[in-house]
Amino acid sequence: MTIQADQETIIVEAFINGQNVKSLSQVAKENPTNPTEIVGYFPVTTKEQAVEAIEAAAGAFKTWKQTPIDERIMMMRKAIEKIRTAENEIVHLLSREHGKPLYDAHGEIYVSLMWMEFACNEAKSALQEEIKEHEKGKTILSYDPIGVVAAISPWNYPIALSTIKIAPALLAGNTIVLKPSPYAPLAAAKVAEIIASEFPAGVINVVHGDADVGVELTSNPLVTKIVFTGGTATAKHIIKAASETIKDMTLELGGNDAAIFLESFDVHDERAMRRIVISNFLTAGQICMIAKRVYVHRSIYDEFVEKYIEAANRWIRIGDPFDSNTTVGPLNNLKQKNYVLGLVEDAQKRGAEVIPLGQILDQKLFEQGYYLQPTLVLGCDVHDPIVVEEQFGPTVPILPFDDEEQVIHLHNESIYGLTSSVWGKEEDAISVARQLEAGTTMINTAAVQGLDVRFPFGGVKQSGIGREYGVEGIRTYTEKHVINVPKTLDLPYIPE
Ligand code: NAD
Repeated sequence: MTIQADQETIIVEAFINGQNVKSLSQVAKENPTNPTEIVGYFPVTTKEQAVEAIEAAAGAFKTWKQTPIDERIMMMRKAIEKIRTAENEIVHLLSREHGKPLYDAHGEIYVSLMWMEFACNEAKSALQEEIKEHEKGKTILSYDPIGVVAAISPWNYPIALSTIKIAPALLAGNTIVLKPSPYAPLAAAKVAEIIASEFPAGVINVVHGDADVGVELTSNPLVTKIVFTGGTATAKHIIKAASETIKDMTLELGGNDAAIFLESFDVHDERAMRRIVISNFLTAGQICMIAKRVYVHRSIYDEFVEKYIEAANRWIRIGDPFDSNTTVGPLNNLKQKNYVLGLVEDAQKRGAEVIPLGQILDQKLFEQGYYLQPTLVLGCDVHDPIVVEEQFGPTVPILPFDDEEQVIHLHNESIYGLTSSVWGKEEDAISVARQLEAGTTMINTAAVQGLDVRFPFGGVKQSGIGREYGVEGIRTYTEKHVINVPKTLDLPYIPE
């Protein structure tokens, strides 16, 4: 699927039924650190090719669903080993096309492999059919594969958010058509190629492009499940496209995750201060579950802000993703940079104070790439756009609150509910956490630092439908099929 054209340039083609498919047109993928450098090319898949990929997956499903679970697991384990062996190569490509620093790109592989291994370890018991003998007879509950899965992933974690779908979908006996984001298609395609090399033709297919291809994947009658990670606005189009054929769906969407610091939080805890800074600025803030608005109890607010700035200035070093000193790279694309910049400028116009954070390691690089200096925004109104919108970038508002009731209301009035965090004495924090509307709430940590792949992950309200990760993240790729064998066939209330 990916061909190493030379040392520098990667050419990706669509991968359908075990083969690369030549495209009529290719799109260049630039390096966000230096947008004049082309990292590689990827195709625009045509509608006909997308249909071909779906038909290949539907064809392969007939035999793949019969393949014993032990064989499926064995193939996936071999794929995991191949990814591990190729890790450095993948990580370099990911950093170049995405802009995330090397340590962060390694982190993405770390999370991907951890999840894939968990899925391999748990698949057999999660998918084991259950047989119950009871007073009314016998019931068999089986976890049957759904069929062809259309997997659509975003640009921020292109590998992790593709493998999180590929592994359980295939282990559960489905086949898949993956569409990575056009903003980061190369490394995800490379990893899909590695995985595909261990599976029969047609089990994994990869197509490229944006909404045009996405519409085919989400409306084609042969597709029986959609698993999508991306923006809430895009999900609304997907729901409409899928409505004609009523497809099963898992939607992992946007968030505006709050971090709440209670009166009992110790502002002198430097490790905790470092954790919240990382939870705001890892991957330049381009993570769905990053802490995007911080509420601090008024009694500790001034000291919190002072300590926060110190911690941020220590941790944030903006530079070349390939420099081991760098903790924050450029944004992935110009559109996102301009969007985040717009939110910060709007806050400033409304009277907020904007404080630049961290150290710029290489001024020339900073000016040439899609860089944005991280900022702290103070003095906002609770309903300013920078507070209520998902920024998805390196800026964070910090706001004071007076009592728990008020902050719980501010948290819950959001249309989103992906993750949140509460910081302070454990029992106080858990008590507040229980009142928050979110898929996950972390105590004294936030974002990926609090992620546990053994448990279900997903959002409430407009942050999504369904769950990935955990046993649920495997069973979500199945139809629950009940076979009932009642002892008594006649119902007492039906007349003879
Ligand atoms: P996006 O919605 O713009 O794009 C996501 C994917 O959808 C891309 O592959 C894109 O090509 C495709 N797409 C676009 N239009 C489509 C259509 N009409 N039909 C089908 N597919 C279509 O999102 P993005 O900018 O790539 O990612 C950022 C968003 O993703 C943020 O909102 C972020 O919070 C969210 N996200 C959520 C999670 C989560 O687990 N909840 C994780 C990561 C990112």
